[in-house]
Amino acid sequence: MLSRRTYLEIDLKAYKQNLEFFQRKVSPTKVMAVVKSNAYGHGAVGISKAAVESGIDMLAVAFLEEGIELRNHGINVPILVFNYFDPEYSSLALENNLTITAYSIEQMKGIKSVLGNQIRKLKVHVNVDTGMKRIGPSANECTSLIEYLLENGFSIEGIYSHFAVADEAIEQFSIEQRKAFESAVKTLESKGIKIPVKHLCNSAGSLRFNREEYNYIRLGIASYGLQPSGDFVIPELKPVLTWKSAVSYVKTLKPGDSVSYGRTFIADRKMVVSTVPVGYGDGYSRGLSNRGEVLIGGKRCKILGRVCMDQFVVDVTHLHKKPKIGDEVVLIGSQGEERITVEEIADLLNTINYEITCTITARVPRLYT
Ligand code: PLP
Repeated sequence: MLSRRTYLEIDLKAYKQNLEFFQRKVSPTKVMAVVKSNAYGHGAVGISKAAVESGIDMLAVAFLEEGIELRNHGINVPILVFNYFDPEYSSLALENNLTITAYSIEQMKGIKSVLGNQIRKLKVHVNVDTGMKRIGPSANECTSLIEYLLENGFSIEGIYSHFAVADEAIEQFSIEQRKAFESAVKTLESKGIKIPVKHLCNSAGSLRFNREEYNYIRLGIASYGLQPSGDFVIPELKPVLTWKSAVSYVKTLKPGDSVSYGRTFIADRKMVVSTVPVGYGDGYSRGLSNRGEVLIGGKRCKILGRVCMDQFVVDVTHLHKKPKIGDEVVLIGSQGEERITVEEIADLLNTINYEITCTITARVPRLYT
């Protein structure tokens, strides 16, 4: 329902074009579409269906629940689960044909104790830690995990690692990570263990550190048309998400009037202001109070005072035409010649573009075009 005319417009054509750009660039390596955290806020089901239509043959999520949601919506391609789950839930991984990440002997013993002989049917990718220090054995130590898996009847389909600073212009640490990954693979091969599927690169790494012999890149942020790095720009990326709302009220302030909680904005002249029915309850950060801007009538309009849970107020004094209730407001995206990017909002909030889209809450409907 769009009673407050507020929604995210998700441009699936742009999403598919971004996928196709990377498919062309990294071929013969394939693209695994990373759709965790509700597809970085874009809506996991709609995005995953579009990915499959684009020929993507593997998806990735962080947690079991995210994979199960996709299965419940009829998505049949393999889905890799990157992260931790309590072994108690192992049968859900099997029943939903989810590929799990192995990162410790203790974890895999737990899974074996729940699944028994059925572990043979479980698909497993091993995560080797080459520098993130989150989960997984180091490149030197991964052989013992892999030997444990093979001796205990698990079938290992893949091996992967993850970059820590692929988004930075300086390449040294990423090159060391790739070396460590490749030396782990070599050590295994010297013991006669050949793991069919290898993957290393995220969005930022995929254009600089991929190798033909890697089977996948794991593409997240760039598939949504968002820049993976502050240090270099990929001009071909097409932003997928536009956040729209509508003016809910218009009024005139006289000098001395204050706006919103805490009275942090006081008018020093006569002003015209409009209210927007969006707030931090939608994931529109309170940190944008007195700082952020939106587009109305093709012009930038500054936020006055604090962003509340459900609404905020903007200055429209400078617009040629006084806005009317129902007029379009763009919080992220283009209107006329102007554009507000996710990156611009991230800079204001001293964070990264990932966090801005991931934190748009379920209260905002996602509409696919
Ligand atoms: N691979 C793993 C293991 C991840 O955790 C992530 C995201 O954090 C990705 C790939 C995708 O990274 P990006 O969104 O930078 O492409």
